[in-house]
Amino acid sequence: MFHFGIITVRRHKIHVIIGNSAAGLSAIRALRRMGDSGTILLVSAEDCNAYSPVLTTYYIAGQIRRSDMFMVDDGFYKVFDVQRLFGRRAVGIDPEKRLVHLDNRSNLPYDNLLIASGASAIPLKNVDTDALEFVSTLRTIRDADKIEKATEKAREIVFIGAGLVSLQIIKAILGKEKKLTLVVGSYQILSQQMDSEGAAIIQEKLEAQGISILFGRRVERIDRKGDRVHVLTNFNEVLTADLVVVGKGVKPNLNMVENTEIKMRDGILVDDQMRTNLEDVFASGDVAEGKNTITGQMEVIATWSNACAQGEIAGMNMAGCPAKRKGQFRENVTTILETSVVSIGLSRPEEGEFKVLSHVDVKHGVYRKLFLDGSILVGALLLGKIDDAGVIRHCIANRLDVSPWQDEIATGLLDFGNILINSNDYSWPIN
Ligand SMILES: Cc1cc2nc3c(=O)[nH]c(=O)nc-3n(C[C@H](O)[C@H](O)[C@H](O)COP(=O)(O)OP(=O)(O)OC[C@H]3O[C@@H](n4cnc5c(N)ncnc54)[C@H](O)[C@@H]3O)c2cc1C
Repeated sequence: MFHFGIITVRRHKIHVIIGNSAAGLSAIRALRRMGDSGTILLVSAEDCNAYSPVLTTYYIAGQIRRSDMFMVDDGFYKVFDVQRLFGRRAVGIDPEKRLVHLDNRSNLPYDNLLIASGASAIPLKNVDTDALEFVSTLRTIRDADKIEKATEKAREIVFIGAGLVSLQIIKAILGKEKKLTLVVGSYQILSQQMDSEGAAIIQEKLEAQGISILFGRRVERIDRKGDRVHVLTNFNEVLTADLVVVGKGVKPNLNMVENTEIKMRDGILVDDQMRTNLEDVFASGDVAEGKNTITGQMEVIATWSNACAQGEIAGMNMAGCPAKRKGQFRENVTTILETSVVSIGLSRPEEGEFKVLSHVDVKHGVYRKLFLDGSILVGALLLGKIDDAGVIRHCIANRLDVSPWQDEIATGLLDFGNILINSNDYSWPIN
């Protein structure tokens, strides 16, 4: 604010946003929707418009074109009056001077800063330099280009890690007459998403497609051998591959906050307004660690929908419109080899002492597990029958007492309309 005699001139704020993806774009939309006309400086390490990492496997599968991965075009940045600094990396922050340091040694001043720098795939160690061109993670559009090109010619592909990213790539390239091998450190696939019984159903489907799965394996080395690589495991097996895809999880991009007083653990710690411990510094998306509303624990919830929701809350607060994030927990919906898989809230038994209701119908490929804290639904793992997932999510998010209908919810046979009519309880959703 500047004062000239009795006239007061409000200075436009400068909002710096690091990260041009789900969280960053949602914040931009929220800022402008709230009527904020401040300057928006958008910094992105990648030199391209925003695209969705979620769509990369569809591109690799040939189901969409490369251009379809982009969420916005040049027009978006014009309409929302955003100044782009693309191909520039934020390397440090000086909260006292309110400056963001960039990799070209320039500094950006800010009034509000949003760190929405997401996460990077964890690379594999022990890869010989000559072998690197045959090895890829999948996070960025550049990774997608590399895998898309390599899968065209590859006859043998080795996947390290059996999480959602590996399985989504397998889904993308299945049926293209390639030998596929999964190398898994633990003793089940999808260990971050589900229990061993649910995982066994998916495992059986993968093996029925001729995919070899090696459990309890560590990769000792990857070396180049002519036009291919050799993957050496701790069981002394040597797996030949034209392409190695590494899916060993992600880690938040925190480098710019190291050596600052911004508090972090696995991610940057934020409250329910997406504020860090510094009043004018916010964080959202895969880089942020907020409160899981089911467990009450601080956690990085690395999903697209969470990044969008957190970015929106940050944008509103940056515009001076107080907003709080509600119902923040893990959730995922996917299809693996024609089996629909939904996990909401808690979906693994080791996550706590909860009552578990199961329903298994092998003939129809149905496996459902509900996790209850007393009479409150706190999690669900649904395979095969997922048509009521939206209602179950609603129950979990709103901590509804489901005790009268818990068995029907487990089997998926609950008629929500009848309950609503009979109970006159309008807090219940209709299926
Ligand atoms: C193959 C794949 C499939 C997925 N499928 C699903 C799914 O089915 N459902 C789901 O919910 N989620 C899925 N995800 C996860 C989802 O993509 C992420 O949760 C989401 O992209 C997070 O968004 P974000 O805005 O936090 O960060 P990101 O999308 O990671 O973007 C980070 C941005 O920050 C920039 N950046 C990073 N470091 C710097 C720096 N130092 N300086 C400047 N800019 C920087 C990057 O260039 C980028 O623009 C999937 C991810 C992958 C890779």
